[in-house]
Amino acid sequence: MRLSSLSILCAFAMAGVSMPAMAADVPPAPVDPVLVIHGGAGVVRTGLSDAEAAAARDALARALRIGHAQLRDGRPALDAVVAAITVLEDDPSFNAGRGAVFTREGRNELDASLMDGATRAAGAVAGVRRIRNPIQLARHVMDDSPHVMLVGEGAETFAQAQGMPFVDPAWFHTEKRWEQLQKARSDADAARNAHAAVADDPLRYFGTVGAVALDASGALAAGTSTGGMTDKRWGRVGDAPVIGAGTWADARCAVSGTGWGEFYLRTAAAHAICSRVELLGEGIEAAAEAVINVDIPALGGNGGAIALGADGRMALPFNTEGMYRGWIGADGIPHVAIGRDDVEAMAPERVDR
Ligand code: ASP
Repeated sequence: MRLSSLSILCAFAMAGVSMPAMAADVPPAPVDPVLVIHGGAGVVRTGLSDAEAAAARDALARALRIGHAQLRDGRPALDAVVAAITVLEDDPSFNAGRGAVFTREGRNELDASLMDGATRAAGAVAGVRRIRNPIQLARHVMDDSPHVMLVGEGAETFAQAQGMPFVDPAWFHTEKRWEQLQKARSDADAARNAHAAVADDPLRYFGTVGAVALDASGALAAGTSTGGMTDKRWGRVGDAPVIGAGTWADARCAVSGTGWGEFYLRTAAAHAICSRVELLGEGIEAAAEAVINVDIPALGGNGGAIALGADGRMALPFNTEGMYRGWIGADGIPHVAIGRDDVEAMAPERVDR
């Protein structure tokens, strides 16, 4: 059922948001910009030292401040998304850019995407190996090419033509991720020797990063960046660079996902959340809950997402032990959380979980 225009206006008024301009010559009323980010839903409390948790929190807060500065300066939501994700890609705490997980062959193959809700323009890259900030290459694909998605060598040739800096693949290497690959390999060998199925336990490796933003003009954007999943093979590409699966933004709703990518692809998760908002008239919280905590687990998958509506409401559902996450609004104070019980840190009056 579609919302009638009256109920849309009521919803805006109840949410304390200025109503959108109705005539072309009336400029849109300014709204309070909001930025929401995640650093992956693969939190395993027992596998996280205090120092690692503190480093992840610092990086999330830094990404929020840097992204928010863009919004405060009147820049578009898209700029805030790229700025925040760039910080997270450069931080080894997360499975994106530096600190990405390894493929079976011991390489880092990186995926990223972003989408502008106002225009539905989108850009994505998959399987790049020498681009320090894949989210920035996705931005170039969107702005400077006639295409939406470029992969592998072709994407890097395009990056060269755009004058993007390249890094040695060793830039992405971290010992922690290398050890995760060795463990995944030895688990697989042990299972083979015992003639048992390899345990499905990709949980500990979800560390994808993402951001969704609402700018002062009321426009939304979303972006996601990842190294994929440890021990991935054969050029595997997950949901993160696929528009509609890991990333989606339109005029009403923006989403970035993190989790077992195959299931996000099979449910077109990010688009499914926004479709529920548009076609069923659901609130952002109910829509995100239905896809992340009902549809995906029903197929056997798990993970989380961040979702933001044009009225500034947000949802951060996940069905793992935790999700690195945070948001920042008008007061410029970053709110950051990791575990399931960190609800207070997230200022519940704006966050419905
Ligand atoms: N969704 C990512 C993928 O499947 C993994 C993650 O969220 O960390 O590639």
